[in-house]
Amino acid sequence: MNAHQMVDWMADFFEHVEKYPVKSQVKPGEVYQQLPAQVPAKGEQMEAIFQDFQQIIMPGMTHWQSPNFYAYFPGNNSYPSILAEMLTATLGAQCMIWETSPSAAELEELMMQWLQEMLGLPAYMTGTIQDTASSATLCAILSARERMSDFQINETGFQTENQLRLYCSSQTHSSIDKAVKIAGIGRSNLVKIGVDEAYAMKAEALEVAIKKDLAVGLIPCCVIATIGTTSSTAIDPLEAIGKICKKYNIWLHVDAAYAGTALILPEMRWMSQGMEFADSFVFNPHKWMFTNFDCSVYFVKDKEALIRTFEIMPEYLKTEVDEHVNNYRDWGIALGRRFRALKLWFVIRNFGVEGIQQRLRQHIKWCKNQVDRFEAAPDFELMAPTPLNLICFRFHPLHIQDETILDQLNEQLLHHLNASGKLYLTHTRLNGQYVLRWAMGQTYLKERHLLDSWELIKEMSERLF
Ligand code: PLP
Repeated sequence: MNAHQMVDWMADFFEHVEKYPVKSQVKPGEVYQQLPAQVPAKGEQMEAIFQDFQQIIMPGMTHWQSPNFYAYFPGNNSYPSILAEMLTATLGAQCMIWETSPSAAELEELMMQWLQEMLGLPAYMTGTIQDTASSATLCAILSARERMSDFQINETGFQTENQLRLYCSSQTHSSIDKAVKIAGIGRSNLVKIGVDEAYAMKAEALEVAIKKDLAVGLIPCCVIATIGTTSSTAIDPLEAIGKICKKYNIWLHVDAAYAGTALILPEMRWMSQGMEFADSFVFNPHKWMFTNFDCSVYFVKDKEALIRTFEIMPEYLKTEVDEHVNNYRDWGIALGRRFRALKLWFVIRNFGVEGIQQRLRQHIKWCKNQVDRFEAAPDFELMAPTPLNLICFRFHPLHIQDETILDQLNEQLLHHLNASGKLYLTHTRLNGQYVLRWAMGQTYLKERHLLDSWELIKEMSERLF
């Protein structure tokens, strides 16, 4: 009875999702103050709990599934993905080893094969589903560290002579900074390489930095290249970077958390040229591939290096079939694992590759159309190239040249737009300038949403004076 009621509510939610404020309009503490402070001693009726969900929780939710959600990168779901999540929750399996749910392990193996083929990755690449790109990147850095030290840092910890160096561009995601902290490498050993005018890593500057480190006895260990940076979806030149990694025997990790999904389109495979040099690669179906958070896919060239980095064999986890199966507990950080392959299977089967491709192409095309509108609008400025479906722009009335005033104007514009509840954009800084980001990849997006949002952006920017 409760389940039927809630499923009805879920269907209604999607029908009306556009009517909710996209960014929650509550003030800090507002939700907390409404929640009962006392722990309930006796069980409560589901009706009362659900009523509080609707009245207290819902206003404090930001609606990532609204087609007018243009913030950060999308965190999409879709109907097949939600249905699979419902089944996963119902089964409640903890899929740490093959024996604890053979279907989960074997479906995961197949999903990795499907995705490898769908993205056109090298056939030898294999891997596993992780929670987030942050975890996958940490796995890559730990594996690089272990390979470089012949798996000795795992055993003895860092020795003073092991000063490992990592390299990424100045535009790389903060998860890399976090991973070097966790991996014991230290942020001062993460070298940020400069970028060109398209915000892509300068390969020649990378080689200069590596040579400089080698000259003073430091140990180049890993390079992180990004396909689709967070601020502006810049694409690092993988092939040039890969050749340098090969020359100096350095682990190459490719972070394609957002843009990796676009490799499903053959016409976007130019972004992955040079992938044969990669030791590891991550992308997030939970961003643009219509699959509920969390679902991050991590591929490696050498699965033995991954397993050797994480393997641990307590008696209570041994089973009779260990020799014959994939026990994914040793392919990443956590022991416990959710059954994430099911939602991928539902999504890929229900959309079909062509269905996914069609939506991605639409998003990219609508974004190009929007770029044209920006180019025809004298009071707006495009702030970075648009290789995919993210536009970086700012309001720049012709008579204003003062950078501080432009920053303030755009901050105000963002505030007013988001306070309207009609859309949700976020910002970044490029070249020190305050820039608005408009990501156009939501599952339920139609071009009419972009047109309405564009009218609102123009109208609100005019009202700033
Ligand atoms: N890498 C890039 C390029 C990203 O844009 C993001 C998030 O937006 C991440 C990594 C981190 O992703 P996750 O939240 O899955 O850790």
